[in-house]
Amino acid sequence: MSDEAVPMTSHGGCLCGKVRYTVCGEPKKRFICHCINCKRFSGSAFLDIAFFQPEQFTLESGKEYLKDYIDEETRSGNPLKCSFCSECGSSLTLSKDNDEMVLVNCGTFDGKIAWGITGEVFDDMRRAYLVPFRTGSE
Ligand SMILES: [Zn+2]
Ligand SMILES: [Zn+2]
Repeated sequence: MSDEAVPMTSHGGCLCGKVRYTVCGEPKKRFICHCINCKRFSGSAFLDIAFFQPEQFTLESGKEYLKDYIDEETRSGNPLKCSFCSECGSSLTLSKDNDEMVLVNCGTFDGKIAWGITGEVFDDMRRAYLVPFRTGSE
């Protein structure tokens, strides 16, 4: 992705702080999704999401607060498990049924994110006031 040094671990969590996680290394990809389901999941104009292997993702605390919703109506056709904090409502992760990847909502990372955006999907549904994102580091 870039030649700059990437921190080995990155931390994040929900608004209330009960759910905390760590990811190790860099994601396979990080993209912006403009689909309606991602807008609803994030509660915002788009979802900024990073793809990690399950072994890269560690839930440090708050497992008992995490609640899952299975979204069967995704635009890709693949059901997604949407996980959020039942205490504060922060949308944290998405994963497929077979858990082949953990998709982390980049809005929940602490501070600056080391990896740039690699692409955008469903940009036909991009809000009219948004311009295409620049790929590369923040
Ligand atoms: Zn919370
Ligand atoms: Zn989406």
